Amino acid sequence: MTTTDTSPDTSPVTNRVRLALLGVRSDAPVTRSGGAGPSDDGHFLLNGLGAAIPRNPDSPFVLDGTGRISADGADLGFDVEPVARPRFYDLSTADGVAYEKIAKLHGKDVLATTVVQTCMRYDESERCRFCAIEESLNRGTTVAVKTPAMLAEVAEAAHRLDGVSQMVMTTGTSRGRDRGARHLARCVRAIKDAVPDLQIQVQCEPPAELSTITDLHDAGAGSIGIHVESMDDGVRRRWTPGKSRVPLDEYRAAWREAVRVFGWNQVSTYLILGLGEKDDEVVAAAGELIDMGVYPFVVPFRPLAGTLATDVDRVPAPDADRVAEVTRRVADRLRAAGMRGEDQRAGCAACGACSALNSAGACSA
Ligand code: SF4
Repeated sequence: MTTTDTSPDTSPVTNRVRLALLGVRSDAPVTRSGGAGPSDDGHFLLNGLGAAIPRNPDSPFVLDGTGRISADGADLGFDVEPVARPRFYDLSTADGVAYEKIAKLHGKDVLATTVVQTCMRYDESERCRFCAIEESLNRGTTVAVKTPAMLAEVAEAAHRLDGVSQMVMTTGTSRGRDRGARHLARCVRAIKDAVPDLQIQVQCEPPAELSTITDLHDAGAGSIGIHVESMDDGVRRRWTPGKSRVPLDEYRAAWREAVRVFGWNQVSTYLILGLGEKDDEVVAAAGELIDMGVYPFVVPFRPLAGTLATDVDRVPAPDADRVAEVTRRVADRLRAAGMRGEDQRAGCAACGACSALNSAGACSA
């Protein structure tokens, strides 16, 4: 997967992938830049489904005033509505920290935060090469550590003022054996005390003590993401050198325990397409995860400024047609297993905005 074709296609999945890779010429009221996971995008609804799409002045795709996206006059088949700026973004804590620096709106109703914005693996030799977790900190658009009280205050306002219904809480990896999960649990507890009906997904590395997974559940989290990004050890060593020292079997043990504790299809992991794996191997890995009850959230690799992959390795975006084809094959397997993203209580699979799986019918009915 090395190039990105720009010609319009009639397939919604392929067009959705092209938008994810090439972005759109448009402003957006809700954006994010830097941070963990896919970023540097604006938030839109495409045919009613949440979509995180890069804003790119050089994109062949343009959003016009009628709410349609086209390329060279050819319509891509999407009704587009930018997500409106939420009211909680206008508020600050008593000591002057803007709520927007504590948590952000993702999609139309997801509140997302990185509770600890630093990672023990951020040295250049250790860092995941697609990650920009400390970029937003360097740019001053977030704070390094979000306290339980801060998060409870913002979650309450976002729920009350903007109808936020679910929350995604990730963390940089700490040096402790819990890998950051203990602070996550404290934050979840405080948020659930303030907003009991807010559904929360936590995201972390496999903790050394599997009982930590129960602690996260008991604190009030409804689902969990334990993100491996690739199930190929060679790819992991190249792309996630620090994390690759956590053996895949440790991931498998954590996923199994998480399914036991949180339930079937309440656990997910990212698989990133375009890191150099063979397509059949990615689909087989997704199949293994589905058989375990874990939702494989497949997303295309996106070259983002501030990451080593872009700034040092100059890795191009993957081929859109291949990403679309793998996404379709994974979606077929998810559908055959009856596993829908929208059935997760909260989290990326429930939101779906960073993947084309929802255009392939694997997030909702
Ligand atoms: S899929 Fe996950 S990271 Fe992407 S917008 Fe939704 S909640 Fe945020």
